[in-house]
Amino acid sequence: METLAAGISYIDLGFQDTPRIIAAAVLQSPAGVAIVDPGPASTLPTLLGALGRSGIGIDDLTAIVLTHIHLDHAGATGTLVRRNPRLRVYVHERGAPHLVDPTKLLASAGRLYGAEMERLWGEVRPVPAGALAIVAGGDRIEAGGRPLHVAYTPGHASHHVSYFNPETGLAFVGDTAGIKRTARGLVLAPTPPPDIDLEIWETSLARIEAWRPETMLLTHFGPAAPCAAHLNELRVHMALAADLVRASLARDETDEARERWFTEQVRLQLRRRMDEADAHAYEVAGRFDLNWRGLARYLRKKTDSRIVDSR
Ligand SMILES: [Zn+2]
Repeated sequence: METLAAGISYIDLGFQDTPRIIAAAVLQSPAGVAIVDPGPASTLPTLLGALGRSGIGIDDLTAIVLTHIHLDHAGATGTLVRRNPRLRVYVHERGAPHLVDPTKLLASAGRLYGAEMERLWGEVRPVPAGALAIVAGGDRIEAGGRPLHVAYTPGHASHHVSYFNPETGLAFVGDTAGIKRTARGLVLAPTPPPDIDLEIWETSLARIEAWRPETMLLTHFGPAAPCAAHLNELRVHMALAADLVRASLARDETDEARERWFTEQVRLQLRRRMDEADAHAYEVAGRFDLNWRGLARYLRKKTDSRIVDSR
């Protein structure tokens, strides 16, 4: 466990045997232990092993605090609650039904990951409705003995929330502040279908900035600071990615070919800045072909609604 502040740390879940892909945060106090985004079921042994080495057993856990329900953040939740039924699970109301009945979530993920589902995510168990505590923007909760402010931060997912601990200046931002694997790495936006909305995403970045956090904990991966510079770099790369997808849509070819072209362009950008292993690891955190699909869906929807508006 890497320490962020007194009683607050994070664990590298070693997703797909690759370092610095998924971080789970741990908030510890005599009042209990909370995990922010426990990750997928496939990395549960790593999570429990790291907790165990710090003297934390599964029965010591009191809360799972979710930024959103995507499998790389929340897939292990049902299994954890089954093993410790006292756990409370904090989640936005739009995500809650899909924890209780993950059928649609798994179907949607299945369309993106196909035969890789089991290997990537492991078993996804439903979460009993009685374990859920619904959160909304503006709420204040206490988890792991820490007060947390809640902000509604959609854009990556329509049910995404972020959490801020004012005592330490730490913000737990899930995927809203993008992916940055290493100090020299680029800040890329994970934009898989189906919820991507860049305009709404910008309002979420403004909400995080309004907290004036000292450090943001990115799920992919780890602490990021100073926050203003980081978020501005995210804005630049989000705009660049959207420009590339627009350019791809103007090319006279199939979506498969457009997806491949976009993927190559992003790979080229990364390879100018880092070695092959680090560049490849970005794709383990968020596949570029899926980023194309999410952005293309968003841009096409926006164009369609403009055509309707101008009638
Ligand atoms: Zn993620």
